Amino acid sequence: MPQEKVFIRHGALGRGIYARIPIRAGESILTFDGPVLSHEQVLSLGEAQAYTIQIGPDEYVDTTQPGRYTNHSCEPNAGIVGDRLLIALRHIAPGEEVQFDYSTTMSEDHWTMECRCGRPSCRNVVLDFDLLPASLQTHYIRLGIVQSFIVREWRAKAGRDRRPNRASPIVQFRRAEGF
Ligand SMILES: [Zn+2]
Repeated sequence: MPQEKVFIRHGALGRGIYARIPIRAGESILTFDGPVLSHEQVLSLGEAQAYTIQIGPDEYVDTTQPGRYTNHSCEPNAGIVGDRLLIALRHIAPGEEVQFDYSTTMSEDHWTMECRCGRPSCRNVVLDFDLLPASLQTHYIRLGIVQSFIVREWRAKAGRDRRPNRASPIVQFRRAEGF
């Protein structure tokens, strides 16, 4: 096993993951592994349901460390491709916290979270993907960092193919990696 690119430490938002080494834009950081649970099983986890990541309408990964402690940000420096792989959206310096936007994985009409990320564009509450501003939905979809089942739902709702015209660098990276 190669050395982990991140380490876990306590920060302003509780436990989080931080870069151990410089991470390039488009580079993979970690995979969200763990048992796959139904929504009903997730509810039985209580507080720990915050550590699950939705990968289907009724499928969630009960994530293992270190991915388990990845915090949310409304201005993320990382995103999920291929439903489980966390990649850098820009250069991440050693010691910097690695965060993704939880709304890119949420479509369940159940769980919300008050946000204290403190970024200028903070939305104050983390909601399902379909409740994000339309421009932000399009931005994340073009980056290729929205869970595939949510993209399918979004396209069905839009009633037309809204595939981006130009492949972004992240989409090109995904293709190169076989996603
Ligand atoms: Zn926020």
